[in-house]
Amino acid sequence: MKKIRKILVGTNNRGKYKEICGLLPKKIKKYSPKKFKIKSPKEDGASFKENSLIKASYFSKKTNLICLSDDSGLEIDALQGKPGIYSSRWGGKKNNFNLAIKKVYSKIKKIDKKWENKDKAKFICCLTIFWPGGKIYSGTGIIKGRISKSKKGKKGFGYDPIFIPNGFKQTFGQMNQKLKMSIDHRYKAYTKIKSFFN
Ligand code: IMP
Repeated sequence: MKKIRKILVGTNNRGKYKEICGLLPKKIKKYSPKKFKIKSPKEDGASFKENSLIKASYFSKKTNLICLSDDSGLEIDALQGKPGIYSSRWGGKKNNFNLAIKKVYSKIKKIDKKWENKDKAKFICCLTIFWPGGKIYSGTGIIKGRISKSKKGKKGFGYDPIFIPNGFKQTFGQMNQKLKMSIDHRYKAYTKIKSFFN
């Protein structure tokens, strides 16, 4: 198999860009859509996989580079899997995660004021590689956990301050970021596609 030597990391989200670059081997040349001043496409797919493909093919076609894109989000059992593929949209136009987190708490509390067994959740990530010419390859990773009773920690991004992975006591927002990146949904998705890079 021909290994990939340079890649466009197809996201305009700084937190994701940092994590994906941290997963890829150092020797691979990484480009950001920001460098080409490309805005993100509309994500109107019905699943993480469809949305990651929309992004990977869009950015690849704009630059003629091989592109790796991520679509990810948080699914909360008590909210029937919401925010799910709408995770970033819950932050509003300005991507305000204080707002998104408030929305999560207010919706959960409406269902169960005592917060009993209503906190199960999972982060999901689908990573898709798109080659100019149309070849595609996707891998999905899931990490299960629960929603913390309050927001904790300032590290990471998005919903990190309210998610406690199974087997840990800290939220992703409190956790050493290297540790988060070695266990999370993005890491697990990466293990399924890494043979194209290593
Ligand atoms: P999208 O894939 O661009 O639609 O955005 C996914 C959204 O899910 C992000 O904006 C974050 O809010 C959230 N998300 C995905 N992965 C993570 C993570 O590792 N930590 C915290 N939030 C995440």
